[in-house]
Amino acid sequence: MKKVVIVTGGGRGIGAATAKLLAKQGYQVCVNYRVNAKRAQAIVAEIMTAGGQAFSVQADVSCESDVVALFDATERQFGPVTHLVNNAGILFSQSAFAAIDVERFQKVMLANVTSCFLCCREFIRRNTSTGAIVNVSSAAARTGSPFEYIDYAASKGAIDTLTTGLSLEVAARGIRVNAVRPGFIDTEMHADGGEPNRIERLASQIPLQRGGTPLEVANSIAWLLSDDASYVTGSFIDVAGGK
Ligand code: NAP
Repeated sequence: MKKVVIVTGGGRGIGAATAKLLAKQGYQVCVNYRVNAKRAQAIVAEIMTAGGQAFSVQADVSCESDVVALFDATERQFGPVTHLVNNAGILFSQSAFAAIDVERFQKVMLANVTSCFLCCREFIRRNTSTGAIVNVSSAAARTGSPFEYIDYAASKGAIDTLTTGLSLEVAARGIRVNAVRPGFIDTEMHADGGEPNRIERLASQIPLQRGGTPLEVANSIAWLLSDDASYVTGSFIDVAGGK
């Protein structure tokens, strides 16, 4: 079966590792990015050099018309979208809850939750049968991220609930919806949170004593998308080193 996947936020970090792994596994990959065209194009070039098929599409996935255009572009390039990885996400500087303003809270919800809602909705509107979605949540949905980013943690909690509800609604159609909850993964996101070396600082508190790699998360995403996980829906894989 032809497999066409959109990976949102695929230009770097976990998204890039996922796009490359899925291309190796035979998926035709749409590498979505918001602003960093060069990074996304570099991932596409790497995939093509290795013999895979990919192209990049600019879209802010928190914007409804961009999401429709993203799916249209992917369909034109490769045909109907059969798989979706909702990976795009943001966080802001570490902050106590009382210091978080409404503008920041709304930006986080828009980028993390609205984007997931819009892409899932577009996928199931177009997909009448079969397919699989993996949402990238976070261990923060369980821990709540006190003194760091409760807004971000709450957005990931919303993604978990969306995953559960949607998985039940579309199961009879043969569409599976699952999520991964990464813990401390070595990406540039921590610099955005104001602490590039956050993982080194916290490594001793992680049962496996180290941060994870983007590929370790990508492996779980790829498994959940695959037919090996054909009886798995509404499930969550914690990729968090035991945390
Ligand atoms: P990252 O390196 O910061 O990458 C995030 C990507 O999302 C960027 O490529 C960015 O693209 C894209 N993006 C953000 N907003 C977007 C939007 N509105 N539309 C399209 N693309 C957008 O982050 P990461 O660490 O790989 O994280 C990937 C996912 O894993 C996120 O959902 C994150 O919350 C989750 N996660 C990460 C960790 C961790 O420790 N790293 C832990 C738990 C969960 P541009 O650069 O073009 O804006």
